[in-house]
Amino acid sequence: MIVECGNCGARNRVDEGAARERQPVCGQCGAPLEVKQGASGGATKPLTVTDGTFQRDVLQAGSIPVLLDCWAAWCGPCRMIAPILEQLAAESNGRYLIAKLDVDTNPMTASRFGIQSIPTLLIFKNGALVDRMVGLQSKQAIAQRLESLRG
Ligand SMILES: [Zn+2]
Repeated sequence: MIVECGNCGARNRVDEGAARERQPVCGQCGAPLEVKQGASGGATKPLTVTDGTFQRDVLQAGSIPVLLDCWAAWCGPCRMIAPILEQLAAESNGRYLIAKLDVDTNPMTASRFGIQSIPTLLIFKNGALVDRMVGLQSKQAIAQRLESLRG
């Protein structure tokens, strides 16, 4: 099976049997890989967004708040915030969407929103930017922002 690394986005080939015995790690960055049991995971992992899919996946998501994590592989705080966003995505239950954008490979979207430092968390709703958080955030702080934008 192919597992996309939640940290760097690299696609890793994982032996499902071996994964049950031992935690598989990403071949590119060494982060632990989350291996889903069962095929239909739903939107329980952060969605990888690119310059090409930003319009569709973020701006056209409608009334559901979309949190876009603007990150890069070389950024230490980004690696610290990644597991928090994984947890929020797993707990989203359709109330919000967690997405990630690599600013190095997607400069158009990054410059469009004036990303100066990373991690920057952008929150969109109804096709508009409604909130922005710069730097490392606690899970609780992010969850509170998302909850305040519901409805
Ligand atoms: Zn990785």
